[in-house]
Amino acid sequence: MKKPQSDKSQAAWPQGGRVDALAGLPDRGACVRAVAEQAGPGRRPLAVLWLNIDRFKQINDSFGHLAGDGLLAEIVHRLERAGTRGRLARMGADEFVLLVPDCGPGRAEALARDLLDAIGQPLEIGSLRLRPSASIGIALSSPAEGPHALLERADRAMLDAKHLGGGQCVFAGEVLPSGRSGKHLAREELAVEEVLHRALETGGLSLDYQPILRVADAGLEGVEALMRCRVDGALVPPARFIPVAEKTGLIVRLGEWSLLTATRFASRLIAQGRPVRVAVNVSRAQLTAPKFSQALHAALACSDAPAGAIELEITESLFMDRSEVVQHNLHAALEAGFSLAIDDFGTGYSCLAVLKDLPAGKLKLDRAFVSGLPEDRRSYSVARAVVRLALDLGMSVVAEGVETAAQHEALCEAGVTAIQGFHLARPMAEAALEAWLIARSAP
Ligand code: C2E
Ligand code: MG
Ligand code: MG
Repeated sequence: MKKPQSDKSQAAWPQGGRVDALAGLPDRGACVRAVAEQAGPGRRPLAVLWLNIDRFKQINDSFGHLAGDGLLAEIVHRLERAGTRGRLARMGADEFVLLVPDCGPGRAEALARDLLDAIGQPLEIGSLRLRPSASIGIALSSPAEGPHALLERADRAMLDAKHLGGGQCVFAGEVLPSGRSGKHLAREELAVEEVLHRALETGGLSLDYQPILRVADAGLEGVEALMRCRVDGALVPPARFIPVAEKTGLIVRLGEWSLLTATRFASRLIAQGRPVRVAVNVSRAQLTAPKFSQALHAALACSDAPAGAIELEITESLFMDRSEVVQHNLHAALEAGFSLAIDDFGTGYSCLAVLKDLPAGKLKLDRAFVSGLPEDRRSYSVARAVVRLALDLGMSVVAEGVETAAQHEALCEAGVTAIQGFHLARPMAEAALEAWLIARSAP
């Protein structure tokens, strides 16, 4: 058995720990023995932080193993600098454990956040600037538990953190929604991820607002907030960055930013004497997070806007998610006074009968049923049937993506209550929307 190299983190490891050639760290066996020595009856609590690098396989596949090895070495370096209070071991290719003796939950969480910050610093691989991230599971020892069970709890918590989208820490035993693990990012998507980080840091995110007009009196039903991402002067379309943000879990941060920015805008419009309901798109990762209602309340508290000024747009398939956390979040939002709209209706393949069970006051008919109008009579029939049913159930119906006067006319005939589309108004920046509102109210 090789002796551990002289390294500050290894000096206190039990004898017999093999040294990993790449990282120069004690291995799994040494880690288990260290846990057995440090945890157990009469011992102070030991915190186990199990860390796995997010999307390491994709980085390896995209850039080659040499780049992967370089990334690992740099991450170990960062972990050693940020985790000096603990002892680091390597459990597998991109898995590490930090053992922190005499450590309660508060310190463990603070330490995990420091580690995530350290890992998340940008890194150059070839011509690409990467932003690594990791998922951390935390388990605290209990007297009757053996080392394997303790490590296993930390490992499972790490997987829960991954399911939540990665880039975060989770305590063992925290109740979690079903996740999105196993999603892979291609090289192109890694580049978009980096663009998103830069946009977040450099103020490159903004919201455009698109007016939605009522059919009955041409009055303003509300505006929809649509995220825009601009880096180095170039606009990245939502169709490119939203899917990547969803895969990486960044959508939660972006979504919270979007919610807060839109709520502040709604508050400003109220202060100007022009109250307008602002609709905000909510993604699956937001709605499946246990802290969703906290984010809603935080947005209201930070902007001083009433919940009634905000509508949450949620896709049909997400409404259909019967998981406890989603149903709880939907009802908590309603109870807090937010209104709910079913976005992109008709694309989720659910049967019309489900409409009666959805707690939404508005249905947004997807553009797929609009683009063929007025010639496509089948689309027209479906649109008319959906509208009738929704109206009978007490919902209002907005048609999305209306581009022509002929489409507008056909949809009015089908009975929709409001229209959104380039034909009436394009999405516009805050200042342009304010000018638009002023121009409309001018005599
Ligand atoms: P969505 O929620 O269905 O938003 C409507 C989309 O239709 C917007 O695209 C809007 O610009 C576009 N649109 C409006 N009128 C017309 C029209 O007449 N013709 C055509 N061809 N398109 C029209 P955009 O801004 O590119 O956003 C695309 C999607 O990205 C949104 O679809 C939404 O799902 C997502 N998204 C945008 N902002 C956010 C956000 O803040 N959070 C989340 N989670 N998703 C967002
Ligand atoms: Mg929408
Ligand atoms: Mg839509």
